Amino acid sequence: MTIWLTNTATRTKEEFTPLDPDKVRMYVCGPTVYDRAHIGNARPVIVFDVLYRLLRHVYGAEHVTYVRNFTDVDDKINARAADTGRSIGDITEETTRWYLEDMAAIGALEPTHMPRATAYITEMIAMIEDLIAKGHAYEAEGHVLFAVDSWEEGYGKLSGRMVDDMIAGARVEVAPYKRNPMDFVMWKPSSDDQPGWHSPWGRGRPGWHIECSAMAYDLLGDQFDIHGGGNDLMFPHHENEIAQSCCAHPEGGFAQVWMHNEMLQVEGRKMSKSLGNFFTVHDLLEQGYPGEVIRFVFLSTHYRKPMDWTEAKAREAFDMLNYYYEAVGDVPLDLSLKPDDLLVKALANDLNTWEAGQQLHGAAVAQHAMSGWSEERALKLKRSAHLLGLLSMTETEWKQSIRRGADLNKIGEHLFGLRQTAMETKDFSEVDRLKSALIEAGVEVRMSKEGVELVPGAGFDPAKLEGLE
Ligand code: AMP
Ligand code: ZN
Repeated sequence: MTIWLTNTATRTKEEFTPLDPDKVRMYVCGPTVYDRAHIGNARPVIVFDVLYRLLRHVYGAEHVTYVRNFTDVDDKINARAADTGRSIGDITEETTRWYLEDMAAIGALEPTHMPRATAYITEMIAMIEDLIAKGHAYEAEGHVLFAVDSWEEGYGKLSGRMVDDMIAGARVEVAPYKRNPMDFVMWKPSSDDQPGWHSPWGRGRPGWHIECSAMAYDLLGDQFDIHGGGNDLMFPHHENEIAQSCCAHPEGGFAQVWMHNEMLQVEGRKMSKSLGNFFTVHDLLEQGYPGEVIRFVFLSTHYRKPMDWTEAKAREAFDMLNYYYEAVGDVPLDLSLKPDDLLVKALANDLNTWEAGQQLHGAAVAQHAMSGWSEERALKLKRSAHLLGLLSMTETEWKQSIRRGADLNKIGEHLFGLRQTAMETKDFSEVDRLKSALIEAGVEVRMSKEGVELVPGAGFDPAKLEGLE
């Protein structure tokens, strides 16, 4: 099976040939952990999760290493700590946990390694020292900067820009300590109230780009197969990663294939807080969208095209999944079966997830149309869907989860009505009775003037919802 991938570095679709088929290696830039992941952040997670599943299928699960980092040192995190009065450690620990929960809910497998930047400070310092020694970096006023003109032959190749254009277009930070406005920070000084580590250049903290270079080198070596991320990272982040890594380890080639997903927008508009169309994966899950519905919507657009999140698409995805679950029933996942050839072929063609979905659809239609339901077809459909991270439940579990969501919504509306009445009569006994029953059933009750949110917790027992109202 030949996999074809579009390589941003060459701007062509290339046959994928791993450096070592026994050790296929992929690095994807992960989140900065200071807040819930928004739905745009889920796009690279889902795209590279499908690639990870495909690579595991083709080369064997034990032959693929996937690294995705957590950026847990960043000025946005410091600002969040200052605003909330919480400690940085608390914020990054909680956000990391949320991220893993939300990404698991949309069916993403955990990468092989998920290094945190703060655990790699020593490696970053060593790499920066090496770059200074090799004449690619310099110290100025407690900062260490990468000297872009020390590597004119390579800088800008990935994004295909000329250095002059980059200066004009990228609003680069001009600072008195920079020799050249394009030079970028690898290390910067920290004041006493900022997180900092001892270094040859005084107490300070790393710039953003150096963490990926240092972690990729440590976990994957001086050259590896695939590097991914959203296309907003191509410049300057990826360009800077390449400069650092190729100059520190010129014997390697850093990443062979660069892959970038396009951005996500909402109902045709850029997602932004000011437009009021900004939401997180967690928001969607809480509104009752099953994780697979979210995933399904993402898979219906090719990763290199801009993607639009719309409610209409989510509704359609829901209907489709219902139809597919009816086609698989409760058969178990049997990984010893071969998935559908055409589906694998579609994915191997630069991750054509839309086409792969058409194959699933065809199989489901056949299952519904035939006079008898075939277990063999169901098993195959389930096995094939696994490559896309879909149909991970049984039909019974799926139906239960939907019903539970609908029940909770109904009870929530009822509770809100009771509360409105109680505000007038000043008799809250009914509200309190229902609230206690919900808590008893393992549901967290969040009430506000706008409405009631019911969140099933770890000890949720749906049987205890019976007869509640
Ligand atoms: P960040 O935490 O902002 O560094 O982003 C984490 C990942 O999400 C990166 O790979 C970004 O490229 C990606 N990303 C951020 N916003 C979007 C968006 N609107 N659509 C698709 N990917 C995004
Ligand atoms: Zn990175």
